[in-house]
Amino acid sequence: MLKNYDEALHELLEKTFISRPIQSYSLLKATDLVLAKNIYVHHDTPFFSNSAMDGYALGGTIHQCKEWKVIDRIAAGDSLPTTSLQTGEAVRIFTGAPIPPGTSTVVQQENTILINRILTLTQPVQGKQNIRFQGEELQKGDLLFSQGQKLFPANIALIASQGYKTVEIYKPLTILIYSTGNEVIEPGSSLTSGKIYDANRYLLLSWLQKSSHHIIDGGILPDNQQETELSLIKASQQADIIITSGGVSVGEEDHVHNALKKLGKLILWKLAIKPGKPFAWGQINNKLFFMLPGNPISTLVTFQQLVIPALRHLAGEPIEKCLSKPILAQAQFTKTKVQSRREFLRIKLELTQGIPKAYLLNNQGSAMLATISQANGLAEIPENTVIQTGDFIKIYPLHYSL
Ligand code: AMP
Ligand code: MG
Repeated sequence: MLKNYDEALHELLEKTFISRPIQSYSLLKATDLVLAKNIYVHHDTPFFSNSAMDGYALGGTIHQCKEWKVIDRIAAGDSLPTTSLQTGEAVRIFTGAPIPPGTSTVVQQENTILINRILTLTQPVQGKQNIRFQGEELQKGDLLFSQGQKLFPANIALIASQGYKTVEIYKPLTILIYSTGNEVIEPGSSLTSGKIYDANRYLLLSWLQKSSHHIIDGGILPDNQQETELSLIKASQQADIIITSGGVSVGEEDHVHNALKKLGKLILWKLAIKPGKPFAWGQINNKLFFMLPGNPISTLVTFQQLVIPALRHLAGEPIEKCLSKPILAQAQFTKTKVQSRREFLRIKLELTQGIPKAYLLNNQGSAMLATISQANGLAEIPENTVIQTGDFIKIYPLHYSL
């Protein structure tokens, strides 16, 4: 019996844990990489109490005064004044400037009138307004991010705001991508009889090239066992992860899994999904090897639903964060022919009056690439299940990111 999707995915995630080397990395190069060590708050934030507005800092007991004498001016970047403001005194102050000692409140300039350095207010005022107090957001020593956190731009900004210039991250992965097949030729070359242009390598390379990992284009392998073996040995010396598409089915021109059997360990071959049944993975020289089926949609589905979670885990994220999170949406189609394999269908997800709705796209054949560009998700149809319009089904959004 073929292994089911959930079991295969969990086994893949558990077995693909390889402890990665740790590197100190420039913060600006660390986007989308994963922290290898906790990061702690270095300075109370705000670092010093400062003004949230352009306006005036009022000293002492404010309700005793009707007017204030403006005695100083403090702009952002000026150092903290040492003298304390007294009742009846005010200081011209700007957003981000340090609050002088003795300040009771800050009034925004729109609510003031200044004549000859004497300030009056056009609105009643309260204490402690418009001040960002030292440490009100973060305190020195607090945990800022835990090991295993992927660094998104907002995380990078927060780390920078604490003064860190470098971070300890898991070393980026080196991923090598091949297409296979005597019929597969490079786009741009002239089309001759019996040939097709390579779509899969373009899919995978463009999917990964925005990531901060190191991606190697291995080109196209011929349907030849010996050449496949030689290329795999070379690839396993160059890369942490090798990904092929095609050549993993049951025909005698499918050499990839046989080459792996000879050189390394084939851990899984075939699982109960549609499309993507011939998916395989294994190890060669301690490097991971994912073999995706050749039909472009089978490549896409197995890459998104199996390889991406594994790559995330290998990049350092904990298992629970690696799994794609499905959205529940209402099917706008029926599916009465049941399948013993779990199906992944191309759909268009739309929000109609607040309800996510999944529209089935035409031409669901695994060789048919034309409608995938309109799809923004894959609908998961469980094994042996009939779907009626209005049923809630799981949708895996297509993000095309790692
Ligand atoms: P295979 O698994 O090698 O038998 O391939 C299954 C189908 O996918 C065949 O029709 C192949 O021609 C097609 N195919 C394989 N590799 C690619 C590729 N890189 N781009 C587009 N189609 C491919
Ligand atoms: Mg082939």
